[in-house]
Parts: sequence; C-alpha cells; structure tokens
Amino acid sequence: MLYIGCHLSSSKGFLHMGKEARSIGANTFQFFTRNPRGGSAKSFDAEDAAAYCAFAEKEGIGSVIAHAPYTLNACAADEGLREFAVNTMRDDLFRLSHIPGCLYNFHPGSHVKQGMERGIELIAETLNAVLPEAKGTTVLLETMAGKGSEVGGKFEELRAIIDRVELPEKLGVCLDSCHVFDGGYDIVNDLEGVLNEFDRIIGLDKLKAIHLNDSKNLYGTKKDRHACLGEGNIGLDALMKLVNHSALRGLPIGLETPNDLAGYAREIALVKSLYRG
Ligand code: FE
Ligand code: FE
Ligand code: ZN
Repeated sequence: MLYIGCHLSSSKGFLHMGKEARSIGANTFQFFTRNPRGGSAKSFDAEDAAAYCAFAEKEGIGSVIAHAPYTLNACAADEGLREFAVNTMRDDLFRLSHIPGCLYNFHPGSHVKQGMERGIELIAETLNAVLPEAKGTTVLLETMAGKGSEVGGKFEELRAIIDRVELPEKLGVCLDSCHVFDGGYDIVNDLEGVLNEFDRIIGLDKLKAIHLNDSKNLYGTKKDRHACLGEGNIGLDALMKLVNHSALRGLPIGLETPNDLAGYAREIALVKSLYRG
C-alpha cells in the first residue's frame, strides 16, 4: 500500500488538513505542530482531533507525520533552551496522543562548538525527558544533511543517540532523500548500498517515514535545499526506485518540495502513476 502526501498548513486544525489531503489525492500528510520558527501553539481542540480521527478512519488516511518546530535545539549549550525543547516536545506529545499512530519527527539538533559527542549526549538526555510522554506516538529522528554542526548527518550519529535512550521502542528514524543525498549517501548510484548501510548501522526496523524531496545541490555538498521531484540532482528515476523499494513498503511518504497545493497534487499523482504496488 502506498501512503503518499505532503506538508500542509496546520493553522485550520486537523479536520481541515484531513480534508485538504483527500482533495489532492493524499492518504497521509505532514504538518508543523506549531509555528516552525516560534514556540507558541494554539490551545488544543479535542473536538477537532476527534472529528479528524473519524474522518481519517472513513477515508483511509494512514499514519501522519507531525514535525516539531525547527528552531528547537535538543542539544543547545544553554540549559534554558534545552528545557524549552523538552517542554515544547512534551506539550506536542500530549496533543498528538489524541491522534492514534501519529509520528513525531524532529531535527536532532546542532551542537554548535560543543562537539558531536556532547551533542549526541544532550539529545539523548532531552529524549529521555520526553519519551515517557509519548503515548501511542513514535518519535522520529530525521536524517540531516550535516550542514554546519548539525547532528544526524551520519547514520552512526543517529545510532549513537538511539543507543543512549531508555525507551528506544518509542524512537524511530525518518529518512529525508534530499538530506541523505546532500549528506553523502549516494541514493542515485547505490541505493542498495545506502539501504544496506542504514540496516547495518541503525536497522531498517527503525525506519518509520520518508521525506521525498529532490535536491537543488550536488551529491555530498551538505547543503539541504529541496527541489521538486525530477527537477534536482537526484532525479525522478532514483526517487522512484526509493519509493518502490521493498524496504519502504507501507511507510508514510511526505513531500516537502517547493510547491503550492496544485503542485503537490500533481506530484502525488506522478508518484502514484509510477508506483509498482
Ligand atoms: Fe525536517
Ligand atoms: Fe525533511
Ligand atoms: Zn531539508
């Protein structure tokens, strides 16, 4: 079964997102839990969440991906900033507990001169404070491009975080095709090798979601700029080999390409037309 969708605005609530997803042919979607650059969230609307759940069930919408604001830094040197990350993630997880089977994706963080080792330690510490609040939600570490002091540009870094977490069963990984390509994993010429490496280091059982993006930058440049499918340096063939790979069967696939809704509808139709179920 192919679960494909895109990033949607969460400003009008869950039910609105569900309806919008269906209107563009999607059966999953992604959204920011709050303003991606800020911290505040609207008050929680349990009625909207319940209405969405009934709609999702009826319409066959699968697991959806909530994305934490990318200003959170779970390994910030400043203790107050780390505490802010913990409180925000806990509040998000409380809200998401009303959406069964939800995935909660976040950017592991930037160690900013503290060193990779310390960054990994602090991220695990943040997760250990947060994961007990995950009720029916799986928290996902996103594979990053390795820009600047980003943690998570290498599979080994994600593995080291997982190894330090007390509730690893509540933790998984979201693979972003643009990020891994920019980060030096050659999904164009050696997809099999990359997935084998993922399996050897992290374990494919930990792979819970995909961000499907082409890349404006070249392989290994550690840049992270998304392109529309087929309009970047990964190309449609390689992206579809990923989508059609048996290791990804049934995982929610979210587009984060530079598109408006009509553009997303076209990309969703394109992926569906090239999917070999
Ligand atoms: Fe992301
Ligand atoms: Fe992503
Ligand atoms: Zn990105």
